[in-house]
Amino acid sequence: MKSYILAIDAGTTSSRALIFDKNGVQIALAQYEFTQYFPKEGWVEHDPIEIWETQKKAIQDALAQANISSDEIEAIGITNQRETTVVWNKNTGLPVYNAIVWQDRRTAAFCESLVNAGYEQMVQDKTGLVVDSYFSGTKINWILEQNPSLKNEAVAGNLLFGTIDTWLIWKLSEGKHHVTDPSNASRTMLFNIHTLEWDTELLKMLDVPANMLPKVHPSSGIIGTAKLDNWTTEVPISGIAGDQQAALFGQICFQPGEVKNTYGTGCFCVMNTGEKPVKSNNKMLTTIAWQINGKTTYAIEGSVFIAGALIQWLRDGMQIISSSSEVEALANSVENNGGLTFIPALAGLGAPYWDSNATGAIMGITRGTEKGHIARAALEAIAMRSREIIFEMQKDAGIVFSSLRVDGGACKNNLLMQIQSDLLNAEVIRPKTTETTALGAAFLAGLGTGFWKNQEELMHIWEKDAEFHPITNEATERIIALWNERMGKITTK
Ligand code: ADP
Repeated sequence: MKSYILAIDAGTTSSRALIFDKNGVQIALAQYEFTQYFPKEGWVEHDPIEIWETQKKAIQDALAQANISSDEIEAIGITNQRETTVVWNKNTGLPVYNAIVWQDRRTAAFCESLVNAGYEQMVQDKTGLVVDSYFSGTKINWILEQNPSLKNEAVAGNLLFGTIDTWLIWKLSEGKHHVTDPSNASRTMLFNIHTLEWDTELLKMLDVPANMLPKVHPSSGIIGTAKLDNWTTEVPISGIAGDQQAALFGQICFQPGEVKNTYGTGCFCVMNTGEKPVKSNNKMLTTIAWQINGKTTYAIEGSVFIAGALIQWLRDGMQIISSSSEVEALANSVENNGGLTFIPALAGLGAPYWDSNATGAIMGITRGTEKGHIARAALEAIAMRSREIIFEMQKDAGIVFSSLRVDGGACKNNLLMQIQSDLLNAEVIRPKTTETTALGAAFLAGLGTGFWKNQEELMHIWEKDAEFHPITNEATERIIALWNERMGKITTK
């Protein structure tokens, strides 16, 4: 009877619900966008109530689409936009302020003051993070600083903090469970990733009362139950992970050295580093991937700011293509890049350069340069930046990896995937299900109730769509040599 898993994928722009069957096949997907508020420059907010309402609708729609009822659902898994911060009153159930979104920079000056006060090393040692407004800690501090009565309420134990996973579980369980998992906790700048506890020194630094914090539950295993209107049964909630970590799990990157790269507007690259946290020498983030059966798995995470965005620029800025997918045919219209290198520093350069003043360039233009060469060089630039991040991660972790699992909108581009494989000199593997984030949450939930026996069973369920094998030759070497030479001209590193 219980043949399905419901995955809640609470994203940055929409609330989504997906249903998977025992073979890991997606049988329904419903989603509702919600409002993005930009009250001031650099500020981004969501309404937590709207997130909850749209999420509920998406769940009900997904069940209707699949034509199943709640008693056919084995378990619920949740994955979420990370770091986004909600503070609510536990008595009224109402948020005291809008959710402050991960992109929000309002606490940047406060973060700078923490760095100036000498906290950077301690924060990195304990949390694996750099001091940044991105993470939840300074956002909680900001909310409580708005009004002295809020601080008093928090100290009195009337206010609760949660990332979106926590908020949704609290709503789903009608206020019974105030929990998160280590993958989400590790993005708050309040959680010690070595002791696996909320850290008193960090709480003091950010003036956050400990009684606001959720209980940290393993990423897989029964947490509580959910019951929505017109559901006939209570359904166990048994999986939680932040979106990037869920995608790593959904890509079956269970072994140290296995990496997934998501090709969207930017690239999000996460490498499993096994049971020990690895410290990065390049300001990449050390994070918890998941905790299952008492075992904590760590990861290292790096991102490229501009990836698919480069293709958007070719479309909207240069207008040499009219849709992103056209870039593949255009790049295939030429044999090679014609000697071009596209420096994709349209918004500075992240790891390993960390040069926020760098600007973009197309170098090597001659009378023979065609649009196709520019398209090709743009794809190579996306793959080269991912290569740089992956190589730095490998160095940090001291592990050599053998294959890369890919997802995200731009992974549909076969030429890009072949270029990536060539430049990494490694296999690139694309899964059949591109909804890897939701699938990861479903896998964690199903493992948590015994729907799937163990991780090995999941390895058999996961299906690949395509494999790209490296062809390295002189042309590949030349792309890399020109890139290094030209990058050296525009950055100081
Ligand atoms: P996000 O989640 O960041 O919005 P998506 O995963 O939806 O991103 O991917 C969209 C991005 O991928 C866009 O930047 C788009 O330009 C790029 N993209 C989509 N299709 C292709 C393609 N066939 N080749 C290259 N880039 C593509």
